[in-house]
Amino acid sequence: MRIIVQKFGGTSVGDEEARLKARDRVISARQQGFDPVVVVSAMGRRPSPYATDSLLDLVRGRGLPVDARALDLLASCGEIISSVVMAGHLRAAGLEAVPLTGAQAGIRTDAEFGDASIQGINTARLLDVLASGQIPVVAGFQGVTDDGETTTLGRGGSDTTATALGVALRAECVEIYTDVEGVMTVDPKIVPDARLISAITYFEVEELANNGAKVVHPRAVHIAQQGGIPVRVRSTFAESEGTFITDEVERRVITGIAHVDGLARVEALYPNPAEPSRARVAILKAISTIGINVDFINVTPRAILFTVKDEFARAAEEALRSEGYACHVMAECAKVSVVGAGMQEVPGVMARVVESLHRAGVHIMQTVDSEITISCLIDQASVARAVRALYDEFDLGSPGSS
Ligand code: ADP
Ligand code: MG
Repeated sequence: MRIIVQKFGGTSVGDEEARLKARDRVISARQQGFDPVVVVSAMGRRPSPYATDSLLDLVRGRGLPVDARALDLLASCGEIISSVVMAGHLRAAGLEAVPLTGAQAGIRTDAEFGDASIQGINTARLLDVLASGQIPVVAGFQGVTDDGETTTLGRGGSDTTATALGVALRAECVEIYTDVEGVMTVDPKIVPDARLISAITYFEVEELANNGAKVVHPRAVHIAQQGGIPVRVRSTFAESEGTFITDEVERRVITGIAHVDGLARVEALYPNPAEPSRARVAILKAISTIGINVDFINVTPRAILFTVKDEFARAAEEALRSEGYACHVMAECAKVSVVGAGMQEVPGVMARVVESLHRAGVHIMQTVDSEITISCLIDQASVARAVRALYDEFDLGSPGSS
């Protein structure tokens, strides 16, 4: 069997026209001799009636007391609806297609409602369906606990379903179909002339995704890398080879740019700067107990600085104040990151980042770097300018350079 997993995101199944395009992608995989396993997201985005957020609004928006378990039951419905509709389209085109929930597809998870992790996949049923020449159409974003509870996999969950199935079924490739040509050097919604990246390493795309490029979910990429399954991100609508994600790619200094909006910078001051060490430990402990994601942690002689998502700024501030630490909070910050597997081998990349942002009049509040990523904390209002400056500096609009 030549199994290929084809995942269609929300906009790729959002209306009839899109669904017919998606259907044609499956038909063409079949014609090329593949055995497709289709994974679908819910149909469209809010306010579409069957989009996940629209379904959740039925209870959340009305303040109904629904617990996490019940919310997951509701959240899982959008993908189930979508799988039945897509299977219907395939059948109408003369293909045998079988819609399956995550549970029916054998996807077992832990019981972390709203953000469950896949624990294992029992492929027996899927393999049966495939062996009988039928096309399974699996509802993405969901699974089932050993106790039979329905769970959902968090943001980007359908991407995770797709790569996890790809690994479990030892697929030749996982195709992530979406509304853009593939992984671009920068979000095409910010820079319309962004260039398609034809090949990229798992590490780079994972870093881009972790730093805000939502084109494919980092967890899904990680699973594919661990399982050694190649992934292709491509458009449902445009004829293009898309982006091939694999290990063997020529190293570029900078491959792409990503950004995250809506951050707040928190500065927690030591009460007695002459005696910083006790305060440092206590502040870091207080931050870790609030259980929210912090970034850009910077320990200085008089304060500890870090960023959180805007919506958590108040919680962070309160946690620190209740421990007796004064805080300054600066809202409306953003993170801009450049990612490239080759930057380690080339000196002066940081200098180019800093200089080009300076020339564009962008003030850098902090930086943080890892092996293949340099991130700068800037103010929200400068994001477009910063992205553009880095895009020009590293020639991300013209093929092959940087
Ligand atoms: P889907 O519903 O298909 O999962 P998503 O909205 O999750 O689609 O992901 C596709 C979107 O990701 C694009 O519309 C694009 O705006 C955004 N995006 C952000 N960064 C990038 C990038 N570097 N390359 C391509 N798309 C990007
Ligand atoms: Mg997505």
